[in-house]
Amino acid sequence: MNSKEFRQNAHQIVDWMADYLENIEKYPVKSLVKPKEIFDSLPTNPPSKGEEFSVIFQDFEQKILKGITHWQHPSFHAYFPANSSFPSILAEMLTATLGAQCMIWDTSPAAAELEELMMEWLKEMLALPSSWAGSIQDTASTSTLCAILTAREKITDFTINEKGFSENDKLVVYCSTETHSSVEKAAKIAGIGKRNVRKISVDAAFALKPDELEKSILLDIQNGLKPTIVVAAIGTTSSTAIDPVRKIGEICQKYTIWLHVDAAYAGTASVLPELRDKLNDGLELADSYVFNPHKWMMTNFDCTVYYVKSKELLIRTFEILPEYLKTKVGNQVNNYRDWGVQLGRRFRALKLWFVIRTYGVEGIQTKIRKDIEFAQKFKDELLAWGNAEILAPISLNLVCFRVKPSNLSWSEEKLNTFNQQVMENINYGGKAYLTHTKLNGKYVIRVVFGQTNVNETHVYNLLSLLKENFKANVEVI
Ligand SMILES: *Cc1c(COP(=O)(O)O)cnc(C)c1O
Repeated sequence: MNSKEFRQNAHQIVDWMADYLENIEKYPVKSLVKPKEIFDSLPTNPPSKGEEFSVIFQDFEQKILKGITHWQHPSFHAYFPANSSFPSILAEMLTATLGAQCMIWDTSPAAAELEELMMEWLKEMLALPSSWAGSIQDTASTSTLCAILTAREKITDFTINEKGFSENDKLVVYCSTETHSSVEKAAKIAGIGKRNVRKISVDAAFALKPDELEKSILLDIQNGLKPTIVVAAIGTTSSTAIDPVRKIGEICQKYTIWLHVDAAYAGTASVLPELRDKLNDGLELADSYVFNPHKWMMTNFDCTVYYVKSKELLIRTFEILPEYLKTKVGNQVNNYRDWGVQLGRRFRALKLWFVIRTYGVEGIQTKIRKDIEFAQKFKDELLAWGNAEILAPISLNLVCFRVKPSNLSWSEEKLNTFNQQVMENINYGGKAYLTHTKLNGKYVIRVVFGQTNVNETHVYNLLSLLKENFKANVEVI
């Protein structure tokens, strides 16, 4: 493909992109293909000769697209959103065009310095402690791994990096039973082992119980183990529960334990001053903090923001300095390869810059406020309808509920099956996509209102779908 052809193809694709996003509601939200359907529809072997772009693009439209779940569809209420937006897409196009590999300052000074500035902007936007420093990572999972590795090195005085584990390094990680699976994964990767992850019980609001945490820590100390890190969640994945960060932080201080705060999803909501008492209380006690603009801040995947109280500890954990990476500017600049796991890094700050400038802080605040109102509206309508039960406090824009015929008394088991059936029927209908979780053994439907273009129409569409499918399934069962 030469430059002239690139230009033509690119114009065509940009038109396709705009059409796609304008008409996205015509697609079934969740892809309805069967396992292996896409794989089997494509040639088994790579082409020996180059193909025309028009042919490749036609295959994209005809063969690939039907295997895509449309995350940018406003009726995508599943999991948590992975939002995008026009400015973010434009920045990604430029990032791909520049193709810069931003491992150190020298390999693109603007990338390193824009990243540094975006980390400052976001701190101000979310009212996070001003002394924190940090960098953009690929995912919250990687950031939590960084936190566990740094805590591991701190507590062992950097000896595991040097010599590997010794007999005495019996490290323990704490989190709640509701904490994201990335904590256990990171404990496995860090060599701590999942048996040394203590899952502390939660209260009625699914938040970690601090007194249970302290008991568990004391027991481990008695048994000669080393409590290393506590991961507190602001907005758990199942129900957006908020752990009592201040109380947990005080316990961490008492026993000199690292406090990592996982606000992967909910962090974005700290742009709202009225929520900061709830979301930011005690954050000054945290050693590290992560949130994902790639979930709720209109910045397409991947873009995770990771802050630490001590950048010295972080850098000391990850620093490498082979001869071929030595530069003259060394200490005056941030070489982000030393701030995390990977060497090679994408230029992710550009899309944040485009997004924040396009919407402005107020634009982002308005969006987040609306989503929270949609969740309240949806809850009110569910309660007014009478055939639903709210199963977790609604802290932000996620509603956890189940449908339950008000005039029938069904067993828990029957309710579980019924809810699964109603949800799957909605998903296979293609008009909305919902996912579930289990809370106290109950099958719970989760509905998130967070997609970039979600509005009140989608709230009411979903209510109608729910009522229709409820009726159809009650009649069947
Ligand atoms: C989504 C989520 C994660 C994982 O995020 P990735 O960026 O996909 O690794 C971790 N913790 C919480 C609370 C989450 O909601």
